[in-house]
Amino acid sequence: MSTLPNMKSALSKNCVDFIDDDKIQGLIGKPADPADPVEAREVMAKSVAKEPLTVEESAVLINCDDPELVEEIFATARQLKRDVYGNRIVLFAPLYIGNHCVNDCSYCGFRRSNKDAVRRTLDAGEVQQQIHALEDKGHKRLILVFGEHPMYGAEFIAETVRMVYETRKGKGEIRRVNINAAPLDQDGYKIVKEAGIGTYQVFHETYHHETYASVHPAGTRKGDYLWRLDGLSRAWEVGLDDVGIGALFGLYDWRFEVLGLVTHARYLMDRFNCGPHTISFPRLRPASNVQLDEQWMVSDYDFKRLVAILRLSVPYTGMILTAREPAELRNEIMGFGVSQIDAGSRIELGGYTEVGDAQQQYSEKEQFELGDIRSLDEVIQQLAVEGYIPSFCTACYRLGRTGEEFMEFAIPGFIERLCTPNALSTFQEYLVDYASPATRAAGEKLIRKMLAEMPDNKRKEELIRRMEQIRTTDERDLYF
Ligand code: SAM
Ligand code: SF4
Repeated sequence: MSTLPNMKSALSKNCVDFIDDDKIQGLIGKPADPADPVEAREVMAKSVAKEPLTVEESAVLINCDDPELVEEIFATARQLKRDVYGNRIVLFAPLYIGNHCVNDCSYCGFRRSNKDAVRRTLDAGEVQQQIHALEDKGHKRLILVFGEHPMYGAEFIAETVRMVYETRKGKGEIRRVNINAAPLDQDGYKIVKEAGIGTYQVFHETYHHETYASVHPAGTRKGDYLWRLDGLSRAWEVGLDDVGIGALFGLYDWRFEVLGLVTHARYLMDRFNCGPHTISFPRLRPASNVQLDEQWMVSDYDFKRLVAILRLSVPYTGMILTAREPAELRNEIMGFGVSQIDAGSRIELGGYTEVGDAQQQYSEKEQFELGDIRSLDEVIQQLAVEGYIPSFCTACYRLGRTGEEFMEFAIPGFIERLCTPNALSTFQEYLVDYASPATRAAGEKLIRKMLAEMPDNKRKEELIRRMEQIRTTDERDLYF
């Protein structure tokens, strides 16, 4: 295995390194050359017209330090979020399957040198228990999370996915299973695709080669920068066209990472005619035996900037904001263009049953600490009160509407015809089957308002009929 981060190993000999550190570095951080407000407004206008930005254009927004211009960026991101995504927020929960790991990422509680980590892989019975607990709360969409270890190969992931889909309790069922795991080879991706996964997520953590090498020791699987960078291209090459990219903010300069993400998104777009389905932007959190280096920690203000700039850079890509962030900040940032959040999350292995409902933090055993530990019901209630429609919709991927053939948000009228009705009917299911009385009241009020605002047409009539069916019968999973 190579000792230099950008040297090709046997594994990565065919991988393309599309990240040019010098180019990115040259685009950011020129205090003597602050962004020109006229140019910045031109870039924002391009975003509002829903055109993806070039890396250079994203850099113009990154170099806006003037607080008034930054406020304009926030306002434009809010506008784009409303125009492209409407007021839906898709909800999911993470399910940690196993924390054995051959890697030694300096920031992660699961790293192999952390002797305090309690190593565990859920067995079939334990996975089923977790699924029942998640279904009892009303979850329909999960992301399964795995350490990197030979035990968690493609067959194991696929088998776990199949089990999750088959495990049902009462009206509960998991309808979409996404994956966050190590990048696979092409045969591996074929196997997990066959099992019916939704999105396959691989975060590159840091796009900066030198930092990548310093936090991922050479000789480990993850130490191979190119193998990981190429990870989702390999998925595309074998037809797995629903992929999620991400960077772990706090390892290096946030501005560099934003441009790394934009470069990655554009590379996938150019090569496969379609960008990533989602972008994640986790911020580094305290973790078991992890010494955090304060140098690149991202302040809340800069975090808001980076989310808004990502929104404007890739107008059609879903953006995921996780419960690593505290509730208040999540509420604020949601308006900038976030399309998915997790809720009621537990990241201890077995955490959905073994520590009860108290949502205690077991930080010494976890991969990292969560910032938002509210229950799913609490999160949904707040969303409804603030006018967001909580959505459990899984229609697109089940109808094969993914990838190049289907840039969902690019199609005019798509949201009105499909997304909003599907969000409302899945929200209605939640309210009838799982909600507390207060959440149900807030939710029904929001549904009445949304229906009143919808133009009268056949689709609306059908939606109203279906919502009534959900309220009065056991009929579920009705989607357009
Ligand atoms: N092992 C797989 C991998 O590394 O890609 C997937 C699982 S890993 C547990 C999922 C993600 O958690 C990582 O990609 C990283 O971005 C994030 N993570 C690790 N340590 C973290 C920390 N201390 N704070 C916040 N996020 C962290
Ligand atoms: Fe292992 Fe992933 Fe944690 Fe790295 S981030 S130590 S690969 S679980």
